[in-house]
Amino acid sequence: MHSLSDDDRAQVLYEATVQYWQHILAIVRIAFGIHVALFGLFLYLQVPVMLAGNAVSVLAYVGCLRAIKRKRFQLAGLLMGGEIIGHAMLATWAVGWDSNFFMFVFCVVPIVAFSFQRARLGRVCLNVAILLLIVGGYALRAQMPGSAQISPAMVNGIGVINALAATLLLLRSATLSVSFSLQMQMNLFLAAHRDSLTNLYTRRRIMQRVRQLGAQRQQQVVSVLLLDIDHFKAINDAHGHDIGDSVLQRVALAITASIRTTDMAARWGGEEFLVLMPGTPSADAQGVAERVLASIRAEAGEVTEMGEGLAPPLQVTATVAVATLQPGEAFREALSRADQLLYEGKRAGRDRVMAAE
Ligand code: GH3
Ligand code: MG
Ligand code: MG
Repeated sequence: MHSLSDDDRAQVLYEATVQYWQHILAIVRIAFGIHVALFGLFLYLQVPVMLAGNAVSVLAYVGCLRAIKRKRFQLAGLLMGGEIIGHAMLATWAVGWDSNFFMFVFCVVPIVAFSFQRARLGRVCLNVAILLLIVGGYALRAQMPGSAQISPAMVNGIGVINALAATLLLLRSATLSVSFSLQMQMNLFLAAHRDSLTNLYTRRRIMQRVRQLGAQRQQQVVSVLLLDIDHFKAINDAHGHDIGDSVLQRVALAITASIRTTDMAARWGGEEFLVLMPGTPSADAQGVAERVLASIRAEAGEVTEMGEGLAPPLQVTATVAVATLQPGEAFREALSRADQLLYEGKRAGRDRVMAAE
């Protein structure tokens, strides 16, 4: 197993952080919206202390959203984490422990854990603040001054609203975290198993499937197509690498359009493709190979050079070899037979389907 360089690690962390913040952006916006609404409420009720406190919160969210936009994620984490913790501390102190303002800090935990992976000091400081608030607040709950203007019934009402809001937020952020990790996993799978130019499967995915098939092969016959574009180097040389790439994409399209969904097409090497066809006897596989080749001849050359307008289609052909796995035969052996057939097809003049007798 190869390990990542420090540079790679930094890149992975950076990309993951970008995606993480994209995922929770909706929550940051909702939090911002709530504080703007509260600002309006305090303005209406004319409570200067709350109004001043809320103005700071609104500014913190404006800064946080700007920091996200500028990809300064640690700053964003600090502003959002600091705002939630600070707000919860002050509000708990002012209204009392039963107001449940402390619950909002649980939503900060994943944000801190994610945004401060490379900044231990920041992470430790924010985590200590969370602990102090939760444990210290609970221990000192009887000594909190509370507010003379807020009746116990009101504290109870605020407590219910906060418990509901904080729990909903936590549930939402847990769902987002799961969808975030799944998305990352899918991106990884895509990168490992699909060729980025043609979107066909990679060699690695085919070999996985071959191993799976190995166990079931007693019951079904498996055929393999190996296809190599003819004189592809000449296409590159005459029309440039970008046109070469377009031809590769057109060939991939021609292949996928001619096979069944149970077949797997892969980019096997530079301009070489492989189709794995479970449950397909040799005669049927030859039929597929003929169809693929006809489609390549007809359509793969329809590429236009940049700024050239409608250029006449290029002549693109390929040589295709068909091999069918014999009972008990390893995939490797059938592949080497296909390789040999392909070589013979090239020598015999290309643009043809080759199959063993
Ligand atoms: P033959 O008919 O004998 O197969 O000749 P060929 O020119 O197709 O084969 P050769 O192996 O000599 O050349 C293959 C060329 O494919 C050389 C390489 O630069 C090109 N190639 C490989 N991968 C890519 C790619 O991703 N994009 C482009 N544009 N060209 C590629
Ligand atoms: Mg080749
Ligand atoms: Mg070739």
